[in-house]
Amino acid sequence: MTVTTATKLFIGGEWVDSTKHLEVTDPATSELLAVISSASLQDGLDAVTAAHNAFHTWATTPARQRAEILRKAWEIMTAEAETCARLIVLENGKAWRDAMGETLYAAEFFRWFSEEASRIEGDFRYSPSRDKTIVTDHRPMGVAFLITPWNFPAAMATRKIAPALAAGCTCILKPASETPLTALWIAEVLQRAGVPAGVVNVIPTTETGMVSSAILADPRVATLSFTGSTYVGKLLLRQTADRVLPSSMELGGNAPFIVFEGADIDAAIAGAMIAKMRNGGAACTAANRFYIHESVEADFSHKLRNAFADLKVGSGLDQANDLGAMVSDGERDKILELLNEASAEGLALDPAVEIPKQGAFIAPYVITGVEQGSVLTRNEIFGPVAPIIVFGSEDEGVRMANDTDYGLISYVYARDAGVGLRLARRMESGMVAINRGLASDPAAPFGGMKESGLGREGGFAGIHEFLETQYFAVDL
Ligand code: NAP
Repeated sequence: MTVTTATKLFIGGEWVDSTKHLEVTDPATSELLAVISSASLQDGLDAVTAAHNAFHTWATTPARQRAEILRKAWEIMTAEAETCARLIVLENGKAWRDAMGETLYAAEFFRWFSEEASRIEGDFRYSPSRDKTIVTDHRPMGVAFLITPWNFPAAMATRKIAPALAAGCTCILKPASETPLTALWIAEVLQRAGVPAGVVNVIPTTETGMVSSAILADPRVATLSFTGSTYVGKLLLRQTADRVLPSSMELGGNAPFIVFEGADIDAAIAGAMIAKMRNGGAACTAANRFYIHESVEADFSHKLRNAFADLKVGSGLDQANDLGAMVSDGERDKILELLNEASAEGLALDPAVEIPKQGAFIAPYVITGVEQGSVLTRNEIFGPVAPIIVFGSEDEGVRMANDTDYGLISYVYARDAGVGLRLARRMESGMVAINRGLASDPAAPFGGMKESGLGREGGFAGIHEFLETQYFAVDL
């Protein structure tokens, strides 16, 4: 199946071909979807030039006008949600429901930040000694370099582009090599919404390291916003250190899902199905380790197995399927490797359902009897595998949940919201979902503690990743 979307680089408002190319395939069928331009180092630098040239005019464009363009992008994206969802399904493999959910979530960042654009606050006060006034301003940083992963090809792009544009920055987006088509489609949407030439540039590339290093080394680039693995995040932080470049990092996760004594088990199962199975488990926020109180473990495991057994696995184009394909055979094989290691630990592996014979599909698994320290608790699984670990006391549950270098999100199920909030405060994570399986919201600050990242996206904080604080001491 071929797709009809942009296949060239988007630089300076033009669709530009390159001498090198990149193949995009459908992981559900291994079919070639498109051959697109792959940015060279020079293309990357051309994108910096375009973004740099466009910066002054965009930064001084009235906020209301920037807001209206972002609002228009939201309108187009929601009106054409099916087109976007189809592209996501084709290049990423995920289920239709997940792709539609992602599209609407992604579009919402344009609406939220269109509203934020005209609310960038400043501050005026007298110094305590009253010798001067302190005037604080927030100004756009400049050219932002944005790097996004394959698991949410639309939402990770809009979560960065929208606040960057709202703040008055221009940007260069480098999408993941597996899923560049959605990013190019978003570039088309922004062009149609009225974004001026050079304000947004999109450059898929197969020469990722080289092109990214050159962009980061360019003094015209003012900030980096990265979403992806902790491994690559650390590599980029070392590069940004050379230029003391501000950087926002949304990195890996290893989320605990804890069911304390007294929690409503049916509600916990419903939440677990979302926290684990949204995006087929390929989410940084995916519940990775299930800590279940000893009094309810048997009931929870039994019910979770039954819920998994009801799942239908197959092509995301068939809207009846609950789980689609992984993004590539390689990503599926990483999960199979973890399962092999779990089997070597003596854990029983029993796939919950049949899966298609062809394509990068993987069956969902509930794995009981897992010990803390297992390969399944130490690694970000990124697939539909739910390891269950039993705990006794509240302190033990909290200690095991926090026993990780990551700290993106935790899921806490407790008797009521009050107990849940008390326990949530003990979690070492930037976000905690209490008695629910989903926390992400464009209006909320998304981000992690520990090795899950630096900075926040969305909410009121998101725009500040693209603003520089400047203070004026004024003698009255
Ligand atoms: P990844 O391998 O780190 O890749 C992410 C992006 O970084 C891709 O665009 C990739 O480009 C690029 N990249 C790779 N090597 C690079 C280098 N040397 N220099 C510059 N860029 C480089 O991550 P992934 O496998 O795509 O995504 C999964 C990871 O993302 C998981 O760990 C997940 O938890 C994390 N994630 C975090 C969040 C969050 O908000 N915290 C959200 C979603 C995903 P190529 O594709 O060309 O290699």
